Amino acid sequence: MSKGLDEKKKNLFTTLLIRYGEIGLKSTKVRRRLENILINRIKKMLERKNISYTSLKLLPTRGRIYLYTQDLFSSAQELKKCFGIVSFSPAFQVSSERELIREAALKLAETSLKMNDSFAIRTKRSGQHPFTSQEISADIGAFILKNLTDRGISVDLTKPDQTIYIEIRDKNTYLFNKIIYGAGGLPYGSQGNLISLLSGGIDSPIATWLMMKRGCNIIPLFCDLTPFTDDSVKNRVKQVVRNLFEYSPFKQITLYCTPHGIILRKIKEFIPPKFTCIFCKRLMYKIAEKLAKRFNAKGVVTGENLGQVASQTLENLFVLNQSIKIPVFRPLIGLDKTEIIDLSRKIGLYQSSIMPATSCTAVPQYPETHGNLEKIIEIEVENKFQELVNEAFKAIREIKISIL
Ligand code: ATP
Ligand code: MG
Repeated sequence: MSKGLDEKKKNLFTTLLIRYGEIGLKSTKVRRRLENILINRIKKMLERKNISYTSLKLLPTRGRIYLYTQDLFSSAQELKKCFGIVSFSPAFQVSSERELIREAALKLAETSLKMNDSFAIRTKRSGQHPFTSQEISADIGAFILKNLTDRGISVDLTKPDQTIYIEIRDKNTYLFNKIIYGAGGLPYGSQGNLISLLSGGIDSPIATWLMMKRGCNIIPLFCDLTPFTDDSVKNRVKQVVRNLFEYSPFKQITLYCTPHGIILRKIKEFIPPKFTCIFCKRLMYKIAEKLAKRFNAKGVVTGENLGQVASQTLENLFVLNQSIKIPVFRPLIGLDKTEIIDLSRKIGLYQSSIMPATSCTAVPQYPETHGNLEKIIEIEVENKFQELVNEAFKAIREIKISIL
């Protein structure tokens, strides 16, 4: 044993080793920018939940971030929601000395290996050391076998019950036995702003989440259809915002809420019923476009799908797209309803999306499935709908929602 080993043993650091895959593939300049944003997002997410940590360090050459904290469990809950993180592992950190690595590996084995389990040691190494990774794997494997004979454990390198990973990086070695998957994607907000038309149903929150995942900063817009719906819909969207923006780094979110019921009433008064939904949506899009200007947002995201409901035919989506100049993103376009529901459950939004809420009473029995653009534009101009949009936009309300 080397000098001062007992002293070093006492200092078995607890760390979370964080991997961020895709960012590491970018050019140096882009990578630096994304790495800085990611670190900032992790910090904000931990601070939002009052999770204390002693340090958060990035090692760009290895594509790794090390988070030193006493609060592993709560930190892990936050890391799972931080876009840009591919996976992470709670790890022991020791100096790269054989004795210390042995001790730490044994500690890990003691807690993870059950009676008759098989196990494997996988070692990766970089830097100068008096041993190879194969030697370490064999040595540690034998050491664990010797010390835990009473558990009936064995080594199995092809299909082990448990794997102990050892990463030897120059002076430091990290040992772990769990790889926890993160949300993937790119750091929140790294790709710019988008307006989300958020109804609070199952679809639009998932569509929004998918764009968040690809690095968009989202400005949520809810069109309040009162008196054709009631407060139950607004309550549901607020709850959805609370859950959805757990995936953002913010403590508070502004939900923009526009009085769309006034517009819908006018539509119902002057337009044949079968066109109600097409006009209602086109005017929602127009309000979203105005909000986009205010925030320099480069598009709108909606939860529309192809052919899921009568109003979402290819022709209708075409007519909707023509109502504004900025792009409309529909990330659910290739998903089946069951896939959307599965995702909603997986990311923890489903329960709030199915909160009881009334349906819009303005929906006609037979909505138009082949919207004719020329005719629709003609009706919009005739009825001065743009003025209605301007008025509704002026009356937009800001609802502050705490994300805690
Ligand atoms: P969702 O599950 O998101 O409510 P949906 O399957 O019910 O969608 P529609 O009601 O046709 O389908 O709405 C299509 C999209 O239009 C929604 O996904 C959402 O992006 C937007 N949208 C609908 N209603 C509203 C609203 N009241 N406020 C804001 N956006 C809305
Ligand atoms: Mg809906």
